[in-house]
Amino acid sequence: MYINGEWLTGRPELSVTNPATGEVIGQVPDCTDQDIEAAITAADCAFKEWRKTTAYHRSQLLYRAWELMIRQKRELAELMTREQGKPLKASLNEVQYGADFLLWFAEEAKRVYGQSIPSARENQRFMVQKSPVGVVGAITPWNYPISMITRKLAPALAAGCTVILKPAESTPLCAKAMMEIFAEAGFPAGVVNMLTVQDPSRVGDAFCTDPRVRKLTFTGSTPVGKKLNGLAAANMKRVSMELGGHAPAIVFPDADPVHAAKGLSLVKFLNTGQACISPNRIFVHEDQLEPFIKELTSRANRLVAGNGMTEGVGIGPLINNQAIQKVDSQVKDAVAKGAKVETGGLRLMDNDLSDGYFYAPTVLSGVTPEMKIYREETFGPVAPVITYRSEDDVIAMANDTEYGLAAYIYSNNMTTAMRAFEALDFGIIGINDINPTSASAPFGGMKNSGLGREGAQEGIEEYLETKLGGFAL
Ligand code: ADP
Repeated sequence: MYINGEWLTGRPELSVTNPATGEVIGQVPDCTDQDIEAAITAADCAFKEWRKTTAYHRSQLLYRAWELMIRQKRELAELMTREQGKPLKASLNEVQYGADFLLWFAEEAKRVYGQSIPSARENQRFMVQKSPVGVVGAITPWNYPISMITRKLAPALAAGCTVILKPAESTPLCAKAMMEIFAEAGFPAGVVNMLTVQDPSRVGDAFCTDPRVRKLTFTGSTPVGKKLNGLAAANMKRVSMELGGHAPAIVFPDADPVHAAKGLSLVKFLNTGQACISPNRIFVHEDQLEPFIKELTSRANRLVAGNGMTEGVGIGPLINNQAIQKVDSQVKDAVAKGAKVETGGLRLMDNDLSDGYFYAPTVLSGVTPEMKIYREETFGPVAPVITYRSEDDVIAMANDTEYGLAAYIYSNNMTTAMRAFEALDFGIIGINDINPTSASAPFGGMKNSGLGREGAQEGIEEYLETKLGGFAL
């Protein structure tokens, strides 16, 4: 725990385990109610001075944090692989992506502009200034344990807000490493704080009810997001919510099915499917089913599961046993209702994998709307393939979900792609592109996938208030 520039210990401890081996790799304190109070007080006091700093100063500190992250890229990535399980190469990519937000918002800090607005009255002038929202409570998930922190903290700090971070229970060590970076970069005491806790609702509830916290930024599941949003609304707090997804991927008949299968296998099995933008419903035209399934299956079969620190490993473990159970129950339900397992469909229990939470890369064909996997978010390495006949049908099926985060299209016809882009109700759409994310581009969802956008120019707006000055001359 890091409160008011100090590292606090001496509380009951929570163990952190490596999901590939089951080994305990560290401990973090479980915060007391007094710690929560102290963190909010520290952030509130620090805000009084921090808000007066210049954008140039805040930019400089963010830039320093970026430099430190880049310098420690390998150590951070190794820690991430041990704590979260993804292959080292994927961790290196995530550290880079995480650092990108520091650099982007170091730049955007200096581009928070106001406005001068003409008045209808001769002796009146309007001036609009942007000011920081205030103390921000940030709750982050375990699947991207570093980039989800910088995606929130960089714009908040750039805007002049102070922050209390509560990272996920499974990945507090990555969060601790990030706090060390913010401390070393020179952020003053109280500007960045971190609470670790066993029961996250204790901190979440405090963020939503304490009048000193002005904004909640949350990335996690839709049910938890809805609960927190309800509580925050009752106390009139600003919120940003990055919640679940159930991304459709549509392979149109004019696309190359082998190329599409290659791309979709890369994005589907990335992070072992534990991503809110993972393609969860793959719609393939009936004429292209055979070559598509053949390529997807062969790619799934070639992925080597194992400890992400081992060279050549392409797929890591799931985060815990519960995650395995959920994936397995979705697969069993689909099979019971008629889906065919093209490959995978079981937990991997080979000798060196049995202590971890490994599930085989899985391809299901013949998936239909009656199956749980068609409706529920799948946070695992399962690619469900659904057959379709017409463009209108597939667009309707793709939109038939409570979620609206990401979607993917494969097409070589510009008008088909443009029609689909416009018709799909999702916040992020990859068109022949499996990685439509960047610190410079707005990330966020529609419908039950959330509120607000992170990254891009819009990302800093989430942490700014608009203040109007009306001047009578
Ligand atoms: P996941 O299923 O991906 O773990 P969660 O929504 O449970 O998603 O977790 C995302 C983040 O939300 C984590 O930091 C977790 O500790 C936190 N969280 C979970 N439940 C609550 C809650 N009731 N109040 C506040 N934070 C919560």
